[in-house]
Amino acid sequence: MHVTILGSGTNLHPVRAAAGYLIETDHPFLLDFGPRTLMNLLCTKVDRHNIEHLFFTHHHADHVADFIPFFFDTVITAKMSPSSSTRNALNIFGPTGTRRMFGSIFRTFPSFTPATFPIHIRNLGETSLMIGRTKIFTKYMTHTPSLRCLGYRIEYEGRLFAYSGDAQYSANLVTLCRDADVAVLDCSFPAEKPGSNHMTSKDCGRVAKEAGVKTLILSHFYPVCEDYDVKDQCAAVFGGTIIVGKDRMRLRI
Ligand SMILES: [Zn+2]
Ligand SMILES: [Zn+2]
Repeated sequence: MHVTILGSGTNLHPVRAAAGYLIETDHPFLLDFGPRTLMNLLCTKVDRHNIEHLFFTHHHADHVADFIPFFFDTVITAKMSPSSSTRNALNIFGPTGTRRMFGSIFRTFPSFTPATFPIHIRNLGETSLMIGRTKIFTKYMTHTPSLRCLGYRIEYEGRLFAYSGDAQYSANLVTLCRDADVAVLDCSFPAEKPGSNHMTSKDCGRVAKEAGVKTLILSHFYPVCEDYDVKDQCAAVFGGTIIVGKDRMRLRI
């Protein structure tokens, strides 16, 4: 299994794309699709037309916005070459409200319908599903009071990957990350400058320590993080490997 960070920042970060991750197992799939992550996806070796599964943690714009140019291109490309069948189905997964939100996008944006390939949209609760030989678990995360948010845990060939999406510390997050080989956590803020609805570098260290994570990737940085040593702060709590996420970083898990 490989993970490529398509975005390690937030909406208004000057040099990092917002949230997005490419996972490669026996299938390529995306976890979140925030602004500017499409550009980084195009820099990978993965053909975007072969990505059939998109998973969203929640519906904030910094996790969703690049779906729109991606899908526009997908529909146009498929229409221009109908005989060569550029893609199979597109499967979209996310928390409560996913069907409603994407249904609205498909109805509203010009040229989004009709698509020449099947589209399946599924709302997920806490569940598990198989895609080929890849097992995916979801857990509810605590982020903002008004939103259902999911974290994802992926198992493939005995290796474990966990992704918090946007999250505060919670027992569910520790469970999601239990014994993960690699966990990507929401490190929006440095320990000295905590903000609401997200974790700091120290919170991430606490989760990784309690869960027994082997390698922790800090990501989802607000610009203020650039002025602090978030790795050092995290290392004061967590003794495992800590990586400060960067766009286009690719790791084997
Ligand atoms: Zn959010
Ligand atoms: Zn976010």
